Amino acid sequence: MSERNTPYLRAVLDSVPSYRPGRKVVGPGGRSVKLSSNESPFGPLAPVREAIAAAAAEANRYPDPAAAELTAAVARRFGVPEEHVALGAGSVGILQQLLEATAEPGAEVVYAWRSFEAYPLLVGLSGATPVEVPLRGETHDLDAIAAAVTDRTRLVLVCNPNNPTGTAVRETDLTAFLDAVPDHVLVVLDEAYREYVRDPGVPDGVELYRDRPNVAVLRTFSKAYGLAALRVGFLIGHPHVAEAVRKTMVPFAVNHLAQAAGVASLAAEAELMERVEATVGERGRVRGALLADGWTVPATEANFVWLRLDGDTLAFAAACEAAGVSVRPFAGEGARVSIGTPQENDAFLEVARAHPTRNR
Ligand code: PMP
Repeated sequence: MSERNTPYLRAVLDSVPSYRPGRKVVGPGGRSVKLSSNESPFGPLAPVREAIAAAAAEANRYPDPAAAELTAAVARRFGVPEEHVALGAGSVGILQQLLEATAEPGAEVVYAWRSFEAYPLLVGLSGATPVEVPLRGETHDLDAIAAAVTDRTRLVLVCNPNNPTGTAVRETDLTAFLDAVPDHVLVVLDEAYREYVRDPGVPDGVELYRDRPNVAVLRTFSKAYGLAALRVGFLIGHPHVAEAVRKTMVPFAVNHLAQAAGVASLAAEAELMERVEATVGERGRVRGALLADGWTVPATEANFVWLRLDGDTLAFAAACEAAGVSVRPFAGEGARVSIGTPQENDAFLEVARAHPTRNR
């Protein structure tokens, strides 16, 4: 029996970190600027709100377990067959399902580090062995990731653009990598921030998966589509992968408010992409202002910027919080700052400008 007398809990829980969600803080004058979770700063469009309200009126009924309408809408939008689409409760929910489908004790899951915090958490819970390959500078080291693949590797996660550094891998490097990965490994391209990419050299995973049975793409309605609270994401992959995701889903995981909002968002995509464009514009302005003030900021293809701050990270985050601005610190490493509205970004830039030191 364990010390805490919890022999029924798996020992792996002791070694798995908890997910730390972005905080909301309130500063002087009630100012509360949340730049810690890479959300869209824009509320749902009117037709999306109306679709959610209409779906809410049927909350007494279970949702369509197959989410047929949203599945068809995603398939149409991306020009793929419906059997290539699987929905889930956020892309993180799908990631957990993929691990359930592929990983087990003894198996290895390879990903770059630092990357999305959910990776070590979910891989740890699966009982598989996480193999973390350090970033080179702030970018994926695809050669080192390829070299880390063994006979025991089941899954490789490539976060493109990478959370939290915002860097993206380019087409020639990624295709060479995908062509070199052996067939016994599934490569998942986590493209949660794809809509914010403007570098034409960064490939669209939906183009890359088509000729590669062991490649799948994860996308989400949480960021560019502004539906983070509703928890809906999707996988695009070959039928055997999509089917594995469907089999491992908790029944009814994607509720019908989320399904309706997803359909309405795809119908309103042109307007949503104008909002994305505004965020991309602000991203350029924020990075430009930081660079002009003497900060070092890697080029970013996502809706956030990364400041490597080493030992100054927590002091910087505390200064932001004292001003009512929440950012996402990773102690000893750096802070990730989401791009918000112009006013929110100005609030952040004011704190950064007043900070007594700069970063490397
Ligand atoms: N992948 C990456 C890289 C992310 O940053 C996030 C959200 N922080 C997700 C997946 C999960 O998004 P969701 O579960 O909301 O779809």
